Amino acid sequence: MRINWYRSSSIFNFCTMICKNRNCKAEFEPIYRNGIIVSRYCIPCLSKKGKEKQDKDWKKEKAIIRDNIKTKSDYMRELQRTFNKYIRLRDKGKPCISCGRPLREKYDAGHCFSVGAYPNLRFNEDNVHGQCVACNQHKHGNVTEYTINLPKRIGYERYGALLDKRKDPKNYTISDLKELLETYKRMNNELERLRTD
Ligand SMILES: [Zn+2]
Ligand SMILES: [Zn+2]
Repeated sequence: MRINWYRSSSIFNFCTMICKNRNCKAEFEPIYRNGIIVSRYCIPCLSKKGKEKQDKDWKKEKAIIRDNIKTKSDYMRELQRTFNKYIRLRDKGKPCISCGRPLREKYDAGHCFSVGAYPNLRFNEDNVHGQCVACNQHKHGNVTEYTINLPKRIGYERYGALLDKRKDPKNYTISDLKELLETYKRMNNELERLRTD
């Protein structure tokens, strides 16, 4: 008690401090609470910091709200975009899976077994490969050539396994989709980092 009284006495209250903000460095009279200086920043800087923190917290909260209202099809769309990007990064420099021409700047991630007929193979890496726009978009995936070239690309064993997997039921839950999304985002970052190194 005595110490508190002593610390909050007028001697200490008249001391000034230099604001900790390097761009400010204003001299100010610190505020004490229970004998301890409340802040090493001057009042204007302190309120600015408070505002910045509020903005940051709100941004975080907004991201959480946005996440909570996302539907399964939102996740599906986002994952498809991220997964396709992964396929394009993985197959950069390889020829088109169907026609064998070199892939140019713009190319697609094409499915061998279509998403419509085999939704369970939608995110199967062996089922999706870099494909030129002509084959993917103008020749409906150029499936005949795709089917001939795919076993050569991934090997007959994996091709056989892929054929077997066509029968597997697959119902993606939101948490499956979220997990896959995180995985592919991480892999894309890694591949992009390696490419720019
Ligand atoms: Zn200041
Ligand atoms: Zn092609």
